[in-house]
Amino acid sequence: MDFIELQDIRKTYHMTDIDVPVLHGISLKIAKGEFVALMGASGSGKSTLMHILGCLDHTTSGRYWLDGEEVSNISADRRALVRNHKIGFVFQGFNLLARTSAVENVAMPLSYTATHLSERQARQRATEMLVRVGLSDRLYHEPSKLSGGQQQRVAIARALVNNPPLLLADEPTGNLDSRTSEEILHMFHELNESMGLTIVLVTHELDVARYAQRTVHMRDGLIVEGEYDGSSETDDVHRAQDQTQSPARSTTAEGQTS
Ligand code: ADP
Ligand code: MG
Repeated sequence: MDFIELQDIRKTYHMTDIDVPVLHGISLKIAKGEFVALMGASGSGKSTLMHILGCLDHTTSGRYWLDGEEVSNISADRRALVRNHKIGFVFQGFNLLARTSAVENVAMPLSYTATHLSERQARQRATEMLVRVGLSDRLYHEPSKLSGGQQQRVAIARALVNNPPLLLADEPTGNLDSRTSEEILHMFHELNESMGLTIVLVTHELDVARYAQRTVHMRDGLIVEGEYDGSSETDDVHRAQDQTQSPARSTTAEGQTS
């Protein structure tokens, strides 16, 4: 079983007078340590799919396994636990706490998990994460005193402070200029390589294929390219990667060649 397996996922939002069907049967497998880019026009259902992947929302039907556990039908409490331990989130809008230093922003999620760290240890851990994302000289800056790229780095450090195996990023470069976007994408690539972090990233940057191993394209609530349904030859490659946890980096967007 792969790290992520989605089987015929459907999602309909229920509004007061109408039902809004958004996902129409998504099946997708992602191996541990993969870096997948998710692309598609606005309204195609990318964020809805990311919410389901992130256990922020439940499906209307279909099954979802994360790290060997079926999470499609678990309780809200259990979902919160899975989120805290297994998933880091990065959003377009950074979502940092204002008037709160970078270190304190990054340390925040540690207080939600039973890590039993003292305040000093938590700050130490947060500092290490900020050093890792290249912000050793901005530890005590508040968000308003940081550039957009720096704020997103703080958000990435915060997403990873609990050491989750999965990072979900929904248009993390949407508010950044192209040079800063490149820097952030490069950072994701490095985190994927050095930590074996599994990454699913929604992006509009066309050359993201340079950083991701696979590009999955969505249209109108369906995956139209890059599905990796486990039946092709690349399946063996992914399984080998899964076992060794050291994916080959030579592969680029497989969606474009298959
Ligand atoms: P994308 O991220 O690809 O732009 P979304 O997943 O945000 O797409 O949205 C897909 C469709 O679902 C859109 O038509 C949107 O209006 C609808 N939608 C998203 N969230 C909700 C919601 N909470 N309630 C009702 N409809 C929604
Ligand atoms: Mg979206």
